[in-house]
Amino acid sequence: MTLKTVYVFGGNADHSDPRQKDKTVAGGKGANLAEMASIGLPVPPGFTITTEECVRYLQDGADFSDDLRTAVAAALTHVEATVGKRFGDAADPLLVSVRSGARVSMPGMMDTVLNLGLNDATVQGLATSSGDARFAWDSYRRFIQMYSDVVLGIDHGLFEEALEIAKEDKGFYNDTEMAAEDWQALVAEYNTIVADELGRPFPQDVHEQLWGAIRAVFDSWDSDRAKVYRRLNDIPGDWGTAVNVQAMVFGNMGETSATGVAFTRDPATGNRAYYGEYLINAQGEDVVAGIRTPQYLTKAARETAGAKPLSMEEALPDAYAELARVFDLLELHYKDMQDIEFTVERGKLWMLQTRSGKRTAKAALKMAVDMVAEGLIDEREAVRRVDPMALDQLLHPTLDPKAERNVLTTGLPASPGAAAGKIVLDADTAEQWAGRGEKVILVRVETSPEDIHGMHAAQGILTARGGMTSHAAVVARGMGRPCVSGAGAVSIDRATRKLRIGSTELKEGDAITLDGATGQVMLGIVPTVEPELAGDFGTLMVWADKLRRMKVRTNAETPDDCRMARQFGAEGIGLCRTEHMFFEASRISLVRQMILADDEAGRRRALEQLLPEQRADFTAIFEVMAGLPCTIRLLDPPLHEFLPHADEDFADLADATGLGVDHLKRRAGELHEFNPMLGHRGCRLGITYPEIYEMQARAIFEAVCAVKASSGEAPLPEIMIPLVATKRELAILRALIDRVAEAVFAEVGTRVEYLVGTMIELPRAALMAGDIAEEGAFFSFGTNDLTQTTLGVSRDDAARFLSVYVDKGIFPRDPFVSLDIEGVGQLVELAAERGRATRPDIKLGICGEHGGDPASIAFCEKVGLDYVSASPYRVPIARLAAAQAALKKA
Ligand code: PEP
Ligand code: MG
Repeated sequence: MTLKTVYVFGGNADHSDPRQKDKTVAGGKGANLAEMASIGLPVPPGFTITTEECVRYLQDGADFSDDLRTAVAAALTHVEATVGKRFGDAADPLLVSVRSGARVSMPGMMDTVLNLGLNDATVQGLATSSGDARFAWDSYRRFIQMYSDVVLGIDHGLFEEALEIAKEDKGFYNDTEMAAEDWQALVAEYNTIVADELGRPFPQDVHEQLWGAIRAVFDSWDSDRAKVYRRLNDIPGDWGTAVNVQAMVFGNMGETSATGVAFTRDPATGNRAYYGEYLINAQGEDVVAGIRTPQYLTKAARETAGAKPLSMEEALPDAYAELARVFDLLELHYKDMQDIEFTVERGKLWMLQTRSGKRTAKAALKMAVDMVAEGLIDEREAVRRVDPMALDQLLHPTLDPKAERNVLTTGLPASPGAAAGKIVLDADTAEQWAGRGEKVILVRVETSPEDIHGMHAAQGILTARGGMTSHAAVVARGMGRPCVSGAGAVSIDRATRKLRIGSTELKEGDAITLDGATGQVMLGIVPTVEPELAGDFGTLMVWADKLRRMKVRTNAETPDDCRMARQFGAEGIGLCRTEHMFFEASRISLVRQMILADDEAGRRRALEQLLPEQRADFTAIFEVMAGLPCTIRLLDPPLHEFLPHADEDFADLADATGLGVDHLKRRAGELHEFNPMLGHRGCRLGITYPEIYEMQARAIFEAVCAVKASSGEAPLPEIMIPLVATKRELAILRALIDRVAEAVFAEVGTRVEYLVGTMIELPRAALMAGDIAEEGAFFSFGTNDLTQTTLGVSRDDAARFLSVYVDKGIFPRDPFVSLDIEGVGQLVELAAERGRATRPDIKLGICGEHGGDPASIAFCEKVGLDYVSASPYRVPIARLAAAQAALKKA
């Protein structure tokens, strides 16, 4: 049986084919429309063209299949029969909307066309059938403008200009002052614009209109902005979008009509209160585009805000009551917070969309915990619900409540969090300045999908217009960027690149601070405080910890980082990069003396001075980590990071060593490497200069013994050898460490437990893991180097070209961020298997950056690693991701 390409919904449609409610087939919007229709909610009838058809169309060089044409014709007949109107009927026409709907929502990224089916004849029929000529002509001009922009590629600015001129001529200020004849005259204007731009008239054939719109929606999947959005959100390019064609209902049929967007709970705070905005006598795009400032849904929200225009609850009480009933039904049905679009046409409520609503991390946590208390979901589902990466938002500082605030204005609290930085007035500038390391706040009248790269680059977003559901607000919440929207006191002068906030004049580059939780905009940089991990966060983490199997450790080199990581729940150190301890200004000279020494004696002189410093470093760390395993990696310095460059560095070294500058420069020249990442680093240094690792091993053992003596509890040191390729390297260095251990134990008169193991970060090490495991008690996968060496891509140079690789779909994500499971993953799997075959109790972990990436963590669970290790701020993310991975595997 061939699979259906089109599914109808609403009316007496049969919604029983599971593919119709499968988001991968029907897209999120299509699946949910079918779902709502099947539980009896008021959904205007329509049909969904599958995502599979989009993929086929794009593959076939933008051509529709005959099957699709036949199926669309049949589906259209269903809609006509349900509504009782015919598409293209000059007397009483059916009008439709055409919208995109991918598997996951991509707000504002793809195209929509409303009022399709209007032409010079049907507009007359609409005027008669609706009894409202003004409405009919207004709808027609909106349609021409939208269709021309989206399908015909004509600059919508031309139409806006024509509208402005028409209003000016009449002396009107608002669109609402335009009468039927005024709109009719404007339609004539618009038709001239189209003919001039296109060289042919606006399409009058309604079927041509429909196929043009379908084509535009398919094509918009590959628009630049959609591609950027996909890259930022890790959405694969081969999913495609569905197309939803649906009978129009009108929110702009007078004072008993309205349109709105709503959430069943507050998406910013998670509070259990209906939340949303609506506009009387308007179409959907008026609400989200932020052109007219929408009004509150509930009386309580209006009163809290001190706003005047009536809430929907007060202005349209019957429709509101029906809406509230639908909200409750939807939450019970989906067991999640829903984001809804609705229209009221002459008093009757219609549901246009529902989907699981985007939310801030704070709201996600609160809703997950609340819904468990309400009995809607269980703890496992709560743990599954929260996106680990979103926790990042909560792990960052908030404004210090005690700090002084010079509040310039207060807008809408559209996306919470504190953000401070320099004002920039457009997205490109935001990206440029952020690229050179500046913190910026993007300030715009309103944002559009083209601004997405700038929003991403900015610390926070401030807009003069737009409501809580405007593009800026929705996108900022999704990205976790603080946002204040609708700050009417902000006025921007693009020409002089100045702005005014209330009575204060500012210019691009001046500093401001936003508080996205209160909507406050403040002058200058306001100090911040560290986050607290109590409340809902703590509750969810306790549930996650009960469900996960893998341990979570941290990558840390300082006692402060260790303390923070422990507060975040780290269960040990997975990687202490000792070379980072050598970067400190007070030590770098000693390290350089060691590296540049001509012989062993010279090196030993420098090492002797480094020993007490290293011992003190380890003692401080071990005091914080007492009782926990601590993987200490011996020195792994790509030499170029340590060699001196500046003349004054050479002069200082000459002073310290008594050697001449020329001699030192010659020595540095001898040590220069063409490929330092593949050069004299890692255990190669320990093999050629064993005295270095000897010093480090001694410092570790002396420190552990000292901490054991003073606190009674020692950590478990796991001494790790980097960049091992062969068993013999590890054997030589393990013997060295054992020798030092015995010497120290004899000197201090006590023994401690310890392990010696290796990183697996070279393909050869992975292949030979069975052999290597004979010498090592543990493996830690160094997936940064393993990725670099397996792909043959330099980790330091990759950034310059990898984004193009991701754009072209060569890699689904940057393989240095998210493990290349297909390729590098095989080596990890194979090494784990071979290591275990030799040594069944071998400890296995990962300490590359991938240890903090949820997708990579899921892979580690699958392979059965014992732990993952991540930087301190990522520890809670890793705990949650490890729990989700365990749930997925179970
Ligand atoms: C690795 O290579 O993955 C690793 C953790 O070591 P480093 O990043 O220090 O090279
Ligand atoms: Mg490495």
